[in-house]
Amino acid sequence: FDTNATPSKMALGFGPAHLPAFKPAAPDLQAALDQKHLFVVYQPKIHCATGRVSGLEALVRWQHPDHGLITPDRFICLAEEAGLIDSITLAVLHDALPWFAQLSTDYGGLGELTLSINISARSLGRPELIDAIVNLCARSGVSPSRLIFELTETAAMDEPVAALTLLTRLRVHGFMLSLDDFGTGYSSMLQLVRLPFSEIKIDRSFVASAATSQESRAVIRCITDLGRSLGMKTTAEGVEDAATHAYLQEIGCDLAQGYLFARPMTRQLLTNWMDQQLA
Ligand code: C2E
Ligand code: CA
Ligand code: CA
Ligand code: CA
Repeated sequence: FDTNATPSKMALGFGPAHLPAFKPAAPDLQAALDQKHLFVVYQPKIHCATGRVSGLEALVRWQHPDHGLITPDRFICLAEEAGLIDSITLAVLHDALPWFAQLSTDYGGLGELTLSINISARSLGRPELIDAIVNLCARSGVSPSRLIFELTETAAMDEPVAALTLLTRLRVHGFMLSLDDFGTGYSSMLQLVRLPFSEIKIDRSFVASAATSQESRAVIRCITDLGRSLGMKTTAEGVEDAATHAYLQEIGCDLAQGYLFARPMTRQLLTNWMDQQLA
C-alpha cells in the first residue's frame, strides 16, 4: 500500500497508485513488440569544444496502454532473458534508420551526424543479427560509418571472445563501435586495446560527481588521456552542469551528452531542437 497515494493525486490521473507496481513478463513484452508499443527517443551528443551537435543516441521506451511509460531499465534485462533483445534492437533500427536518413539530409547544414544504437551482450555471437543490420542500413541509405554501436564494458569483458567476433564483424562492415559505461567494469588495458572500439563513453557515475569530487575529475581526465593515446574519441555521459562542461573542455574531452544540453526527446521535440541549433 502506497501511503503517498493521496486521493487528490489519484484524481489528477497520477495512475493507480494503490496497485502494486507493474512487473512486465515475457508475454507482455512480446505483445508490446507485436502491437508496436515500443518507441524510440533520441538524445543529442555534442562537441565539447563548440557545443554543436555531433549525433544522436537512440534510447528505447515502452508506452504501455494500462501502465504508462516504462523505461528500459525495467525491461531490457527481461528482453535478454526472454530472447527478445534482438527483436528490440531490430525494432529500434527499423524505426530509427529511415527517419535518420531523412533527418541527416534535412539538417545537412549541421554537418555529418552519427546515430548511436545500444546493443546487448546477449546479441554477441549472432551472425543473423549482423546480416539484418547490414540489410536495414542498405535499404535506408545510411552509410555504416554513421552508425555507432554501443556495448557496455561489462558485456565486452564477460565474453571477450564472443565480443571480439561480433565487434570485428561489425567493423568489417564499416560500423563504428563504442565502449559504453566505461570505468564501471574491470577491463584490463590489454583487453581494451584488442577490441576495435572507436569511442569510449565515460560512465555517468563519474561525470555526475565531477563538480564536487577531485577523484572523479582525476578518473575522467585519465580516461580522456587514455582515449587520446589509443586514437579513440571520448564521450562524457550525464553532463548536468556548466562547471563539468567547462572541465571537459579544459581536458580536451571530445563529446558530451546530458541534461545540460538536451534530454532524450521524441522525434517532434528533437526536430524543434535541431531547428534551434540551425538558427
Ligand atoms: P545508457 O546507454 O548508458 O544510456 C544513458 C542513460 O542515461 C539513458 O537512460 C539517458 O536517458 C540517461 N541520461 C542521459 N543524460 C542524463 C543526465 O544528464 N542525467 C541523468 N541522470 N541521466 C541521463 P535510459 O534511456 O533510461 O536508458 C537506460 C539504459 O537502458 C541505457 O543506458 C542502455 O544501457 C539501456 N538501453 C536503452 N535503450 C536501449 C536499446 O535500444 N537497446 C538496449 N540493448 N539497451 C538500451
Ligand atoms: Ca548507451
Ligand atoms: Ca552509458
Ligand atoms: Ca548505463
